[in-house]
Amino acid sequence: MFISARIKLTAWYLLIIMFISLFFSLVIYRVLTQEFERFERQHRFRIERQFNQDYFPPPGFRQRFTLRLDPELIKETKNRLKFMLIIINSGILVISGGLAYFLAGRTLRPIKDMVEEQNRFISDASHELRTPLTSLKTAMEVSLRDKNLSLMQAKKLISENVDEVNKLQSLSDQLLRLAQFEKPKGNLIFEKINLHQVVQTAVNKIRPIAKIKNISIKTKFQDRNIDISGHKESLVDLFVILLDNAVKYSPRASGVEIKTWSNDGSAQASVTDKGIGISKQDLPLIFDRFYRAETARSKNRAYGYGLGLSIAKKIINLHKGIINVKSEDKTGTIFTVQLPRIKK
Ligand code: ADP
Repeated sequence: MFISARIKLTAWYLLIIMFISLFFSLVIYRVLTQEFERFERQHRFRIERQFNQDYFPPPGFRQRFTLRLDPELIKETKNRLKFMLIIINSGILVISGGLAYFLAGRTLRPIKDMVEEQNRFISDASHELRTPLTSLKTAMEVSLRDKNLSLMQAKKLISENVDEVNKLQSLSDQLLRLAQFEKPKGNLIFEKINLHQVVQTAVNKIRPIAKIKNISIKTKFQDRNIDISGHKESLVDLFVILLDNAVKYSPRASGVEIKTWSNDGSAQASVTDKGIGISKQDLPLIFDRFYRAETARSKNRAYGYGLGLSIAKKIINLHKGIINVKSEDKTGTIFTVQLPRIKK
């Protein structure tokens, strides 16, 4: 698909370049031939005048000396000019052909990367949706075939299926959010936001989840008047993702801490946990879509699709911020977020 698009684009580039080149060649040809004729006329006139002065014809002698240039010579000069212009244009055709092909490749590269990325996204998303859907379908088919299925068993199956459907719903929500943040600025309206309020909203959302695991969430606000320019809901989402992960990957009855402070004109926040940690091999990959460390998938069996941090990264990018992570296996993790601060 991209080869034919590249060839078409090359042809268009070439057409434009050759049009410009031929146009200027014609102009050059016209100007040079006119100049040549003017020069020839002037030169001829000067020689004739000189000659007629030197050999003044007797009175009554009407015929004067006239110089005739060989018309063949003029024609030959024009032909040589034409030939040179044809050679130059052929050279331009060959060189710009290669150049146009190279440029077409460069122009199409970001589009190609984007299409490939989207294809990967679609295939990853359909794969993630397919697995739970297949298990749901199988469970229902097996139960349907079971003639001795009791009401209790049926209810248990339905409640399990509702859990699965809820998970699927959360997956589709996450996929939608990810797609929304793919757009430049995510079609979000930015406003002046207080960092402390955003963090507090996120903490309030996560507290009930943390309570189930008896995890305490400690907040430390160095300054409650840190303002940033951003989209409130997405920034709340960002801290919800980080806090949710901190709770999800921490042992029961442990503690999570969230801090905010300002530094060098930037607003900063960090989320610290004493959970399972992230190994050195996993650290560079955790922001990739659908990536889940082995520890998250097997040992801890925490529920998730590996989309949270890629959404968080997209939110950070839209706000021109930075997100960093420091972690030690089996010890804990600290995510630090840096956002541009609005100066007072
Ligand atoms: P999810 O949590 O749904 O799996 P995320 O994109 O939020 O997806 O996180 C990607 C992976 O990064 C997680 O699967 C987990 O392996 C790792 N991770 C993220 N946050 C933490 C944390 N606070 N402690 C340990 N591991 C984490």
